[in-house]
Amino acid sequence: MNRIAGTEGATLPQPQGPFSDAEALELLMAYRRDPSDVPCPRCGPENIEVLAFIEPEIDTNGFASVTDPDGEYAAALYCHTCQRAIGILAGALYGE
Ligand SMILES: [Zn+2]
Repeated sequence: MNRIAGTEGATLPQPQGPFSDAEALELLMAYRRDPSDVPCPRCGPENIEVLAFIEPEIDTNGFASVTDPDGEYAAALYCHTCQRAIGILAGALYGE
């Protein structure tokens, strides 16, 4: 169910599929501002759910291991309205 690869083609009218790179950036910024309030770039606030915290490295088969939101991790976000999911690197740049 991981669809992080292949985020090109953002203009295609695909209700299900990956977020575009620009959308991914918006989600990342919003997540870093407030992880409990991440609006979907297309659908607006209160559509996104944090499904899980996963390892930042996703193997080539598209599997990601669930981890703790600690240190380097990615957050798996899912929009209930456009039914798209994405993993964003939520913790990596905090480590200073
Ligand atoms: Zn959405």
